[in-house]
Amino acid sequence: MSKVILVTGGSRGIGRAAARLAGAHGWSVGVNYAGNAEAAARTVAEVEAGGGRAIAIQGDVSVESQVIAMFDAVTSAFGRLDGLVNNAGIIAPIQPLVEMSVDRLRRIFEVNILGAYLCAREAARRMSRSRGGRGGAIVNVSSVAARLGSPNEFVDYAGSKGALDTFTIGLSKELGPEGIRVNAVRPGLIDTEIHAAAGRPDRAAALGKTMPLGRAGTAEEVGEAIVWLLDDASSYVSGSILDVAGGR
Ligand code: NAP
Repeated sequence: MSKVILVTGGSRGIGRAAARLAGAHGWSVGVNYAGNAEAAARTVAEVEAGGGRAIAIQGDVSVESQVIAMFDAVTSAFGRLDGLVNNAGIIAPIQPLVEMSVDRLRRIFEVNILGAYLCAREAARRMSRSRGGRGGAIVNVSSVAARLGSPNEFVDYAGSKGALDTFTIGLSKELGPEGIRVNAVRPGLIDTEIHAAAGRPDRAAALGKTMPLGRAGTAEEVGEAIVWLLDDASSYVSGSILDVAGGR
């Protein structure tokens, strides 16, 4: 069935790959981004080239009014909503906890946790059967950091992803009766631009060979799992946390 989905942080990396694969299914995609309009426009063009429809929507997931506006933009462009990919996420330079500023901690938690909660809330308001919706699917993009803890690197980021795992479990039970499935993917080391923000642009290449499969993963390999969890092919999967981590 053709679906309408919103991908937060859909302009680059894993979100872009998920958007492109959704487009190849013929789905309509809201491509949310924070600041890089050029990357978002490129993703929109790629979704359309693959056979889907897409619009770019600027908005910071940590700001409630902008979150509401981005969901309104999707439903007014495509008429309904069937799925959300809670993908937008940030990391900060590698540091031990003792050096982390409150501003850093607040920003990580605001984008990675609060942003995901606000977006899931807006999706639930629109997709819940008791509110006139048709049900749907939410996919949270967590990280293996949630179970590794990322000591001496980014315990803030890891904890934010642990929150997403717990959120996935609780929300799947809360929204199951509303016809909404809630799952998470937990990527391992994936070759995207996020590592530059941690001060290690070469991280995927440098650490890839230490992974059980001997390499870093690609954004497309994570996107495939995300799109499967959105698709009716996974119709009895809810409350699951799927590692896409090359055996890590
Ligand atoms: P990325 O390449 O850095 O892309 C991040 C995307 O999020 C961009 O589209 C960016 O938009 C958007 N974004 C950032 N802050 C935002 C905000 N406040 N509001 C809305 N959008 C925002 O990252 P990625 O590696 O693809 O990561 C995607 C997700 O996968 C994240 O949740 C990350 O934690 C998770 N993950 C990644 C890895 C990995 O190794 N790459 C591993 C595990 C989990 P702009 O382009 O406008 O900046």
